[in-house]
Amino acid sequence: MDFRFSEEQEQFRDTVRRFARSELAPYYREGDHTKAFPHRQLAAMAELGLTGLRIPEAWGGSLQPCLVSGIAAEEVARADFNCGYFVEQNAFLGELLWRFGSPQLQERYLPGMANGSLVMGIALTEPAVGSDAANLTTRAVREGDVYVLSGEKTSVSFAGAMDACVVFAKTDPRAGARGISAFVVRSEWDGVRRTVLPSIGSKCLLRGTLVLDGVRVPRDHLIGEEGKGFYMIMSGFDYARALIALMCIGCAMQSLEETMQYVKERHAFGRPIAKFEGVQFPIAEDYTLLEAARLLSYRCLWLKDEGLPHTKEASMCKWWAPKLAVEVIHHCLLLHGHYGYVEDMPFDQRLRDVMGLEIGDGTAQIQKIVVARELLGREFLPYR
Ligand SMILES: Cc1cc2nc3c(=O)[nH]c(=O)nc-3n(C[C@H](O)[C@H](O)[C@H](O)COP(=O)(O)OP(=O)(O)OC[C@H]3O[C@@H](n4cnc5c(N)ncnc54)[C@H](O)[C@@H]3O)c2cc1C
Repeated sequence: MDFRFSEEQEQFRDTVRRFARSELAPYYREGDHTKAFPHRQLAAMAELGLTGLRIPEAWGGSLQPCLVSGIAAEEVARADFNCGYFVEQNAFLGELLWRFGSPQLQERYLPGMANGSLVMGIALTEPAVGSDAANLTTRAVREGDVYVLSGEKTSVSFAGAMDACVVFAKTDPRAGARGISAFVVRSEWDGVRRTVLPSIGSKCLLRGTLVLDGVRVPRDHLIGEEGKGFYMIMSGFDYARALIALMCIGCAMQSLEETMQYVKERHAFGRPIAKFEGVQFPIAEDYTLLEAARLLSYRCLWLKDEGLPHTKEASMCKWWAPKLAVEVIHHCLLLHGHYGYVEDMPFDQRLRDVMGLEIGDGTAQIQKIVVARELLGREFLPYR
């Protein structure tokens, strides 16, 4: 057993941390006020190779081990939680396309994703279907060389800015999860309409709806085989969940480090407040829990890199880390006293931004159902 990152990975962490501190952190608050999509930050991240970590070199990426994408997600989210989405979504969707997409699809979309010129979203959730994703109702009907897509998607991150989107639709409505297929749909195609939903957090990511009104999608924009969409996305989620956990942990650890500095400097009752047990104990407890969640998340990515099962670990990370991060950031806000409640401080934004990923990519309840399924067996699934 070896808990160390390699020297190369440590260097990568240092590089990303320095970059994120100077190029991303100063603009994090701005996005909350302007609600402008962070195109400049995306381009800078692409320049450093952070958008192509799971895209092969042939398409402009560097195809790193998943552990490396975890380091990037953690370090970027320390500086700007929302920019962490670019690492996470590009890693997850990049992998989906290079594993399952046709060569034409790869050539058309992977270079743009890697160089940051193409924003790719993912549309699974619908107005009436979120957790129960296998029951989605968007239809894809084959007509010769095209599929005609009709339906409504919602809660799509990047909706207001995306150039294209991976859309899940039923090619066989009678086949349940086995009837779901995945397509790349371009935002400018006829019949595509998007609206932005005002959100309480991650405002600059322009989460919104996607209406598909008889959109004609060329057959070569089907990803993989018909009917395999649900299985592709579920295995991809196992990866994305560990990255999301590391984003949340990075953001909370940054808050905790800032708080450790503050409590050494702030005095009350004639001494630094860091001397009081009531201040020390939440810091000690939160640090312990963050470190444990971090180890679990990296272990999950390591299992993936080793080609070993990691579904249970991914869901363990995903139910725990966002919840833990919200709690830790809340403690940090309180340890700053009234200053923590001032708008200039980042804590309220971090709380609202991180909270979104308690829901996005599957709620804690759904993750616990997955963990229990893996532990107890499928026959104990609540909906069988
Ligand atoms: C910040 C953010 C980003 C997102 N980005 C995307 C995106 O890019 N693409 C996309 O497609 N979607 C995205 N989503 C949507 C997200 O994946 C869904 O919101 C999520 O899966 C939950 O679905 P729902 O909102 O329909 O809740 P519902 O399924 O209606 O659930 C409502 C509540 O009931 C609980 N519940 C449901 N079923 C059970 C059960 N069997 N047992 C116990 N409790 C249950 C849930 O846990 C939840 O608390 C995003 C959401 C957020 C907040």
